[in-house]
Amino acid sequence: MLIGSHVSISKGLLGAAEEAYSYGANTFMVYTGAPQNTVRKPLSDLKIDEGKAFMAEKGISDIVVHAPYIINMASYKDDTYTLAKEFLAKEIKRAAAFGSKYLVLHPGAYTDKTAEYGIERIADGLNEVIGQGMPDIFICLETMAGKGSEIGRSFEELKAIIDRVDKNEYLGVCFDTCHTHDSGYDIINDFDGVINEFDRIIGLDRLKVLHINGSLNKRGAKKDRHANIGADETNPKGVDNIGFDAINYIVHHEKTQGRPFILETPWISKTENLYKQEIALLRGESL
Ligand code: FE
Ligand code: FE
Ligand code: ZN
Repeated sequence: MLIGSHVSISKGLLGAAEEAYSYGANTFMVYTGAPQNTVRKPLSDLKIDEGKAFMAEKGISDIVVHAPYIINMASYKDDTYTLAKEFLAKEIKRAAAFGSKYLVLHPGAYTDKTAEYGIERIADGLNEVIGQGMPDIFICLETMAGKGSEIGRSFEELKAIIDRVDKNEYLGVCFDTCHTHDSGYDIINDFDGVINEFDRIIGLDRLKVLHINGSLNKRGAKKDRHANIGADETNPKGVDNIGFDAINYIVHHEKTQGRPFILETPWISKTENLYKQEIALLRGESL
């Protein structure tokens, strides 16, 4: 099983890999800098070769890069849209330099236009960026919770984007358990039905990454607030509405195997997270 968590890039790729290893992970996800802005260190400062050597030595693979949230490929505003395309093109190069094959992207938000407008706009932008030439990497559109005007709240919306992209062999999907639950899919009682629907609409071969999170909200709440796996009342970050059994079923399901599972669960405090425990729990190991 490939399982890890989001880790910090502040100490470069080597620091990220060391952090992942400290959690007992064999994969991980990074942002290439702060998720909420486009300030990025030059690649030469990110200890990439050292990070790759460490990963090879420790058996860490299939790492994931997440593009920053400020990329909005659905924006009708020309400056936002241009920035999104330019920054996405740079993130693709950075992810490839990290040796990652998966760049996770939030499709975008249509703000005061329509979902149809947003879908066209995203596809046009992806066509432009992919048309400039691609390394061996998948842009993985993430399933979204549906808060605000987010696109990607249904499998149909992701499929509509994929269908409008010419070279869509470069597109994959990142399935987020919190987001699909929050958008209304019954992953608790009927994950088989949900994954079969995914297969029918998008195709299982597009499934490249899974984000493994609990949710602070009930199914269909359209909130997007992550919880620790199986968290109860004693957890300071709140109770998980999805629950350990449902998440455990998903990570051991035959149709999800071989993909990196990435935890994006909350930190308990500034200095403490549960990644190590959550990874061990889902592997069926005792600490
Ligand atoms: Fe995300
Ligand atoms: Fe996610
Ligand atoms: Zn989320």
